Amino acid sequence: MIEKTGIPPREMVKKEFPKDERVLINPKAIIECYKEIPCNPCETSCPFDAIHVGEDINKRPVIDFDKCTGCGICVFNCPGLAISVMQLKEDKALLKIPYEFIPRPQKDALVNVVNRSGEVITVGLVKRVQEGKKQKQTALLHIEIDRDFIYDAITIEVPHGQ
Ligand code: SF4
Ligand code: SF4
Repeated sequence: MIEKTGIPPREMVKKEFPKDERVLINPKAIIECYKEIPCNPCETSCPFDAIHVGEDINKRPVIDFDKCTGCGICVFNCPGLAISVMQLKEDKALLKIPYEFIPRPQKDALVNVVNRSGEVITVGLVKRVQEGKKQKQTALLHIEIDRDFIYDAITIEVPHGQ
């Protein structure tokens, strides 16, 4: 499916998550970098040595969830917008996504959350808009969603007129 449409099937997405969902009680980076490409800012930017691409820069990044703190620095630094951060909070989840559109959504705004096919699947609540310190064009949106959508939610619908 991904070769034809560019959309990874759910089972492929799930492989990038921790095998044990309880790990997500703490925030963890979810890396959806499915192609072998010459790129490694995720590896070089992580202050906790949690991501490894290795000597062959074409290899896909591998994350060590034990080392990842969910700080989000790799999210700001990934030029492919291929990394998000997920954290479970009882029946809710906090999804942190890169966002480069202007204007940014406001804190406490309700936003349409979409899946990897671009379909609206739920409504999320913007808990925080975290601007990048070095990467000014990128913000990290903290979106609260229902826990049921953790394997499907990937970004938000850009409001009409933008
Ligand atoms: S979220 Fe932070 S700790 Fe985790 S991989 Fe990214 S930069 Fe490293
Ligand atoms: S920085 Fe992003 S696009 Fe580049 S290898 Fe890492 S995850 Fe993939």
